Amino acid sequence: MAKPRIVVVGSSNTDMIIKLRRIPRPGETVLGGQFMTAAGGKGANQAVAAARAGGQVSLVARVGRDALGDQAIAGFVGDGVDVSHVSRDRRSASGAALIFVAQDGENSIAVAPGANGRLSPADVKRARARIAQAKALLMQLETPLDTIQAAARLAASHGTLVILNPAPACALPDSLLRQVSILTPNESEAELLTGIKQSGIAAAEKAAGQLRRRGVRTVVLTLGARGALIADERGSRLIPGFQVKAVDTTAAGDVFNGALAVALTEGRPLEQAVRLANAAAAICVTRLGAQPSAPTRKEIERFLKTH
Ligand code: ADP
Repeated sequence: MAKPRIVVVGSSNTDMIIKLRRIPRPGETVLGGQFMTAAGGKGANQAVAAARAGGQVSLVARVGRDALGDQAIAGFVGDGVDVSHVSRDRRSASGAALIFVAQDGENSIAVAPGANGRLSPADVKRARARIAQAKALLMQLETPLDTIQAAARLAASHGTLVILNPAPACALPDSLLRQVSILTPNESEAELLTGIKQSGIAAAEKAAGQLRRRGVRTVVLTLGARGALIADERGSRLIPGFQVKAVDTTAAGDVFNGALAVALTEGRPLEQAVRLANAAAAICVTRLGAQPSAPTRKEIERFLKTH
């Protein structure tokens, strides 16, 4: 079977991670343990996760003309991601993120977007043939909203499935929501988008209902270890998560989205696609880092057989 084509429009960052006992409070210094750097950024994470999960992926992104940019591109190439639409920005540095990971797997992240902030509708236009031919367009909100909107419009006009992971959350115009086939917020993003306090399945259903009324066709609301709630024209149902020992939840949502895009473009029913995404994300939380923790398709299949 030919690999399904997926275009990811989004950010690329280098993550600098310190593992420590607990996340420092404002004004506090906590001596940490291990330090590591890893490729990150929601767009890049999702592109790499989708490629490892079996997709043929093109990334539309911007990095600086610096060592971090070189490294990021080398990483994409290593994972088989097409980089012909990853631009080198003359004016801005590559994006960087400083990440604390506590012993219990909780994290705290600060991001300097750099070149990601300059990903433009013109970049999307240059990639229009790729987007028109793709089965799915996968996006997040770490790059400018007008760029996301331009890409969504283009994809929608060519019948390309539009998957938007609204992270980090910001207010979204209904004109954009109407072009989204599948919106994949987590609970805090759902709360920010709808104003409905999230505290379990009933609240998730309420938030998903509101988002659907505003124009989104399908909502897949991720619920951490509990899995994900699907809400579409057939109603809502919970696809339970897998029980694993979490060591670092960084990029769980990214791996979920990458795997979801692949499974859907392979033509799997939504429930099955979400189950595969839950499995991929469950493997991810058992490992440290963003892109390093994204599993291969083989690993996902093996996990599904044994869980
Ligand atoms: P985000 O990582 O964006 O904050 P969630 O916390 O909802 O989003 O996690 C996304 C997905 O990752 C979940 O739907 C689930 O499949 C998986 N996941 C997250 N945390 C765990 C966990 N502790 N155990 C198993 N799966 C998890």
